[in-house]
Amino acid sequence: MPRVDLRVHFTEKDEAKRRGARWGAVARLWYVPDGLDPALFAEWLVPEPSPTEPNIRCNRFYVATGLEPCWKCVAPSRVFSLVVPQGHDKRQPKGEPLEGRWLRYEHEAMLWRVTWLSDTALAAMKEHTANYSLDESKGYLPTKFFNHCEHCGAKQREPGSAGGHVFQPETHEAAQRVTLHYYNRPMEASCHYDDMLTEYYFHGMKRADDAEVPEQARLRYLVE
Ligand SMILES: [Zn+2]
Repeated sequence: MPRVDLRVHFTEKDEAKRRGARWGAVARLWYVPDGLDPALFAEWLVPEPSPTEPNIRCNRFYVATGLEPCWKCVAPSRVFSLVVPQGHDKRQPKGEPLEGRWLRYEHEAMLWRVTWLSDTALAAMKEHTANYSLDESKGYLPTKFFNHCEHCGAKQREPGSAGGHVFQPETHEAAQRVTLHYYNRPMEASCHYDDMLTEYYFHGMKRADDAEVPEQARLRYLVE
């Protein structure tokens, strides 16, 4: 049986551990050990979108950048991610209500475990780096986008359950270490996890230009 991965927010890791979840240090994910019923971990099960079928779409987006120390050569290296704004659409994953339908979300989100990007998003990323590219992901998916060290080329970790990543700010000051580059063009992505950015942290992130900062409503509704 393939290993059942969990998406556990770092604030919930103690609860996941209490229920018997194990930490996979290589994939940097919590998972269900053999012999335990995955249903015990229902709220953390990872939905399985098709790796190349978009499940996120929007008319504008941001490329986020910050510095992370490389785990291998220790030098600080720029890392990148995509942020979708308020009003982005997300396809409901398998097994959830309204499966396969698009819902509109009125909050900003950062995309993790990205397995496919539209050319518009790829072109925006390429304006900043050649080091964000598809690579093998042990114990998880065949390939997904990773940052690679600017100095030694080593594959860099994504934000995850352990916390402490530049893209997981826990204070307003930490949010200021992230810079957002705005793109007023459509994009689509297939990603296995998107993390809602709280208004507080999103507004704390630096703007590389005069990107608009929209109001927060935190509603969601069916768009088609
Ligand atoms: Zn390095």
